[in-house]
Amino acid sequence: MENLSDTVTFLGTAGARFVVTKQFLSSGDVWLNLGGTEMLFDPGPGCLVHSVKKKLDASKLKAIILSHKHLDHSGDINIMIEAMTESGWKQRGLVFVPSDALDKGAVIPPYLQNYPEKVNILFEGGAYSVEDVSFETPVRHKHPVETYGFIFRTPWHTIAWITDTKYFDKLSSYYRAELLVINVVLLEPRDGVDRLSMPEAKQIIAEVKPKVAILTHFGMSIWRAKPWELAQKLTDDTGIKVIAARDGMRFDLARLDEL
Ligand SMILES: [Zn+2]
Repeated sequence: MENLSDTVTFLGTAGARFVVTKQFLSSGDVWLNLGGTEMLFDPGPGCLVHSVKKKLDASKLKAIILSHKHLDHSGDINIMIEAMTESGWKQRGLVFVPSDALDKGAVIPPYLQNYPEKVNILFEGGAYSVEDVSFETPVRHKHPVETYGFIFRTPWHTIAWITDTKYFDKLSSYYRAELLVINVVLLEPRDGVDRLSMPEAKQIIAEVKPKVAILTHFGMSIWRAKPWELAQKLTDDTGIKVIAARDGMRFDLARLDEL
């Protein structure tokens, strides 16, 4: 049965201003296929183009999930809602967003909010499900807009996704999972920039001890420092397999069991 695997496809790996606006790396974040349940996570600019090129079919999506409303995460959310619902002809699919994505100046315009079967609001400590996949938003992140990270549970695996945040105490305690994905924007911590850096990612990985950690959402300083070399160094330092995501990379969670 071909669908009974869990895969994560990175449509893009860019984070932060220049890497996104200059498209040094693609943006568009991630297409999840968890045991046949297809979900889109943070459809940033380019998501439509990259998903079509990879023959990923938006009309098969069961859900679109947004961690927060910043444009590098949400740029293509509306066209992806159109694609999922066949321009509203089929009221189908679920959408999950923080409440401030629907406020005044909403990311999703009111007419589009009626296209999916339901628009669900994410909140701290929330638990949700889409078919056989459940997910949680354990803690609100420290970021300029309302932002959550996620733990996904499939019948086979657990995936934690630490999205944009300033580092905070006990951060790692919320994200115990076999596969840990971290948005790492900065090479070094920077005052006033509420995003994670490499030394913080290293500490989190060492504390969570996942089977595999994947780094993504790279800012300029990391991109220049060659993320794959940084990932290798983290692997050497922590003894945990750390991978730098590449644009288009598809990670099959069956690999977790081989390591
Ligand atoms: Zn952000």
